[in-house]
Amino acid sequence: MAIDILSRDESPLSVEPLLANMPFLDLKAQYREIRGEILDAVTRVLDSQHFILGPEVDALEHEVAEYVGVEFAIGCASGSDALLLAQMAIGIGPDDEVITTPFTFGATAGSIARLKALPVFVDIHPDTFNLDERKIEAAITSRTRAIMPVHLFGLPANMDAILELARKHNIAVIEDAAQAIGSRWKMKGIGSLGTCGCFSFFPSKNLGGAGDGGMITTNDPEIAQRLRVLRVHGARHKYRYELLGMNSRLDALQAAILRVKLPHLDAWAEGRRRNADTYRTLFATHDLTDQLALPRAPETSTHVYNQFSVRVPQRDELQGHLRDCGIPTEVYYPSPLHVEPAFAYLGYRRGDFPNAEAACREVLSLPIYPELTVKQLTAVVQAISRFYQCS
Ligand SMILES: *Cc1c(COP(=O)(O)O)cnc(C)c1O
Repeated sequence: MAIDILSRDESPLSVEPLLANMPFLDLKAQYREIRGEILDAVTRVLDSQHFILGPEVDALEHEVAEYVGVEFAIGCASGSDALLLAQMAIGIGPDDEVITTPFTFGATAGSIARLKALPVFVDIHPDTFNLDERKIEAAITSRTRAIMPVHLFGLPANMDAILELARKHNIAVIEDAAQAIGSRWKMKGIGSLGTCGCFSFFPSKNLGGAGDGGMITTNDPEIAQRLRVLRVHGARHKYRYELLGMNSRLDALQAAILRVKLPHLDAWAEGRRRNADTYRTLFATHDLTDQLALPRAPETSTHVYNQFSVRVPQRDELQGHLRDCGIPTEVYYPSPLHVEPAFAYLGYRRGDFPNAEAACREVLSLPIYPELTVKQLTAVVQAISRFYQCS
């Protein structure tokens, strides 16, 4: 049944909802592809009755280290813990300063504050949504211990500039790569460039488990060794507490499931990139490129599109219209961290980071998961087109 939802004599709300019948992220579609392998992996772990760390986690650590291109990978309980453990292993603590972006998930700056160190925010670049490397140096003081760039939405931050500054000032770089596994900066895997790379296996990330999970990557053998001790209560040998650690381990069940998914990761990212290209073509053919700013297709890096986030001045109205058309969207993120109550004690004010604040008013993430069909992508763009024809 061909319904031309663009025909101008239809009313704006007559968009056929069935055409756009899609969730924001369809994890069931991915699961259907690999269900047998996943169930075999789960059965293998249950049969072994070995649930915490162990051979499945060891194997995943080796596979992720090779995939990212680093010497060591250390599994832990979540991406948030990966950020926390990386800083603990580097020795960041009270009164240290860590430079990061206010346009990110709360755990980025939260992990710094949790160690009683000071998150120091620097504004983002309006086109990439990542830390504006030109503004970092002015924020470096004698107490700065690290820069924590976030490769937001799956697009690498400018690592050449960040690594150069870190070398010059002798400070660490902790990559928040929670949204960016598989992306590359000039051929090098994200998470292999800084002192540590921090990954999340939260189900909605590009490599998602069946629950929480995380991993830290590094080329530094001493940091790797400390991470292995810190995640098990700071004890290298049972009941011998060398460091003040925590309980943050990766479950064997998660590791076994992630090992099934890892070999598919590049193909899934390719599917996301293909969908991003299809969006670009569709937005151009519908003459919408003046109304929406689309994510940059980078030249020096690969984008893995954990999110496909556009910028639109009438964001809330457009989101409401799309909801009426049955098209789900999300806002990542509605508020920059420097104005959130948990960070009020840092003393920042609205207006301090205008690019991050504008992004929070204008970003809208569209469905981008690899299993989307061209028909579904077309329905999204046609519904957006309808919004501009009627407003
Ligand atoms: C998801 C995410 C985290 C936290 O990961 P969890 O596994 O959910 O703890 C940290 N930083 C960013 C940018 C994220 O997207």
